[in-house]
Amino acid sequence: LPGDPRADIISREVRRACYTKVSPSVEVEKPELVAWSDSVAKLLDLDPKEFERPDFPLIFSGASPLVGGLPYAQCYGGHQFGAWAGQLGDGRAITLGELVNSQGKRWELQLKGAGKTPYSRFADGLAVLRSSIREFLCSEAMHGLGIPTTRALCIVTTGKFVTRDMFYDGNPKEEPGAIVCRVAQSFLRFGSYQIHASRGKEDLDIVRILADYTIHQHFPHLEKMEKSESLSFEVGQEGSSVVDLTSNKYAAWSVEVAERTASLIAGWQGVGFTHGVLNTDNMSILGLTIDYGPFGFLDAFDPSYTPNTTDLPGRRYCFANQPDIGLWNIAQFTTALLAANLISKDEANYTMERYGNKFMDEYQSIMTRKLGLPKYNKQLIGKLLNNMAVDKVDYTNFFRALSNIKADTTIPESELLVPLKAVLLDIGKERKEAWTDWVQTYIQELASSGVPDDERKAAMNSANPKYILRNYLCQSAIDIAEQGDYEEVRRLLKVMQHPYDEQPGMEKYARLPPAWAYRPGVCMLSCSS
Ligand code: AMP
Ligand code: MG
Ligand code: MG
Repeated sequence: LPGDPRADIISREVRRACYTKVSPSVEVEKPELVAWSDSVAKLLDLDPKEFERPDFPLIFSGASPLVGGLPYAQCYGGHQFGAWAGQLGDGRAITLGELVNSQGKRWELQLKGAGKTPYSRFADGLAVLRSSIREFLCSEAMHGLGIPTTRALCIVTTGKFVTRDMFYDGNPKEEPGAIVCRVAQSFLRFGSYQIHASRGKEDLDIVRILADYTIHQHFPHLEKMEKSESLSFEVGQEGSSVVDLTSNKYAAWSVEVAERTASLIAGWQGVGFTHGVLNTDNMSILGLTIDYGPFGFLDAFDPSYTPNTTDLPGRRYCFANQPDIGLWNIAQFTTALLAANLISKDEANYTMERYGNKFMDEYQSIMTRKLGLPKYNKQLIGKLLNNMAVDKVDYTNFFRALSNIKADTTIPESELLVPLKAVLLDIGKERKEAWTDWVQTYIQELASSGVPDDERKAAMNSANPKYILRNYLCQSAIDIAEQGDYEEVRRLLKVMQHPYDEQPGMEKYARLPPAWAYRPGVCMLSCSS
């Protein structure tokens, strides 16, 4: 209501707008810096000494304004678990502004957990230390793995407590509040376009305005495409029509978004990352991993692994479903572009076809590199994944050990499994036979390539991480941080920044989960935190 000093945080439908100006309103009491990323500071031309400034935690908790900032929250919608959910928006994230660095690159700085916005709906606009540590560490771990992601500059505690309903016993719990500063070139999502398309005539022009803005800022190469035969494709039955990507920048854009999404998800499958909440509001327009909530990395290989307890028993977003969900989400995105008359039906169908092709290309190439094979071998890889699922083999440590196998076809059968001893645990006689068969075929395939063993091992180790952010590692760091000691978070960050390196002395971070990690409630995750 006009004149109400809290007008900018009253929950409401925000029509004909992509964002709302709103300032952080979170209350703080002696905020403390938990951890920070020097590599993100570099992107922002921020001198690491700045982290020592006494007012740093005040600025990055939102308590003191960032000079020159223009804080706002974005409006977006989304399909949640397959159903259209209407307006969602930044309910607890507030962008402080954008910064153009000395390389001319533009970075957006966003505080997550900085208080209510018009998009907070029924929730409090806050975040807790537990979820903030998870987001901070995983953003930087994914970057270390070479997977596109939003980044994280720092975490600060608010010094206040936040009440959270713990989903496994239903009892509310007080948890320390915290704020992550996320950094990305853009936080636009599929849902940013969907919301305006969903409002029909009233808002359709906004889909075009936002698409123009996005292409101009983030896909400028699509604005000056020249006519070229190689960008024109026959589609439909027996090539009944032609899609020419140089004649419609929106079609070229939707294809690029689809291909970036396909590469992203192929990358996830390669390292065993399961996002947990692949709603269309959590799909970045730049093809970044975005919104770290109930994510998880595979320990034992299990295609149906579902870290998000809110997604049980349906398992819509389980590990093995991610590639199909990516396509489903791309279909929703192209539907929004179709509704706004930016692309044709053929162009939408073609976008989806390109998603499928790109995913298969990337996935096959990743798996080929993981196994150190001379060329893709569907049968060999399929059999391996099947064996791994049956024997619950660790998805990370197995591939790291696999590089110790020698391409020597004269090794006696009884010694074939020796290099894999540490990763094939508790395997009975019958299963040993299945594995011996597999290793035999694998060695034959390797021997046919003629690549020296040490060369292949080095290449495989650069495709198979030694260190991944296992849930139990995160949880240990969180437990210690909740006691006020942030050293373990900082140590874990350092290890995860170089996941493919050996890192002597850090081997304990490559261990399998201990028994306590499997106790009910210990490592359980849900959407809300
Ligand atoms: P997510 O499942 O994390 O993608 O969140 C879905 C929607 O809920 C987004 O619009 C979020 O901004 C919003 N949301 C999640 N947690 C909170 C919270 N604690 N306060 C306000 N909004 C929230
Ligand atoms: Mg989200
Ligand atoms: Mg979230």
